[in-house]
Amino acid sequence: MSRYAVIGNPVSHSKSPLIHQLFAAQSGIQLDYSAIEVAADNFDNFVEKFFQDGGAGLNVTVPFKESAFKLVQECSSRAQVARAVNTLYINSSQQLCGDNTDGIGLLTDLKANCGIQLTGKNILILGAGGAVRGILGMLIKELPGSITLLNRTLARAHALQQDFAKIANIDVHDYSSSVNKQFDLIINATSAGLVSELPPVHASMIGPDCVCYDMVYGDKAAAFVLWARKHGAKVAVDGLGMLVEQAAESFYIWHGVKPQTAPVIAALRKS
Ligand code: NAP
Repeated sequence: MSRYAVIGNPVSHSKSPLIHQLFAAQSGIQLDYSAIEVAADNFDNFVEKFFQDGGAGLNVTVPFKESAFKLVQECSSRAQVARAVNTLYINSSQQLCGDNTDGIGLLTDLKANCGIQLTGKNILILGAGGAVRGILGMLIKELPGSITLLNRTLARAHALQQDFAKIANIDVHDYSSSVNKQFDLIINATSAGLVSELPPVHASMIGPDCVCYDMVYGDKAAAFVLWARKHGAKVAVDGLGMLVEQAAESFYIWHGVKPQTAPVIAALRKS
């Protein structure tokens, strides 16, 4: 049976194994998909051995997406723009290939599942890690009115600003700066929720019809979603839809089949 996995650290919370099993059941495909925690200093070795041993595909999560980009021999243009990879596979020339499905996953969830349009909107992004690299290119393509980014480590935010300077003007700050602006969409792309923390963002930035979106999902998003609702956000949602949509894109890359996402999102919400 073909072997797939999501690798990260931590990774035990991941719903990717369940999602891919549900997609596989829908499509009549047999696969083995597990979640594997990889030590921070063992990423490259692990990936090499996984594929040498016949593994068919890997999803890559926190904190390895930038490492995965550095490791691949070939990558898609969206991974190239992101300089971060969340999907790995071996191509017909036996090269390690990378793609990034986070951006399309977020866009599909925002637009198709939540009915939110981005053109002309003022967007605030919290965080500057691999996930932000994955979503920025796709957000910029939607022609928002502005993009502002806050990150704890300002140097990391500046690196992102520079990497995207050719395609967008991104305003970056750390959390101590006073940004006197209200936003239409606030995306929490930090991993703070994984340790039950909130990024220290001012509630005054929540605009009148603001949508607050936490890329973390389930209980781990509860603190941000509650914070957003308490401070008047029109909509506050977690990243479960994005998770399923980005997984569907990975599934398509590996199997050439586009699975139905709505029943999988519904099944996960129920469980
Ligand atoms: P990453 O590369 O490790 O980056 C983590 C980011 O979170 C950094 O910007 C970091 O700031 C910030 N951060 C961590 N703890 C914080 C805290 N307590 N307060 C403020 N900022 C904090 O991770 P990533 O790959 O970008 O992933 C970020 C999150 O998105 C993860 O929780 C991941 O699970 C989620 N995600 C969800 C989906 C989905 O499909 N729903 C897809 C991709 C990612 P510093 O730079 O200052 O350390």
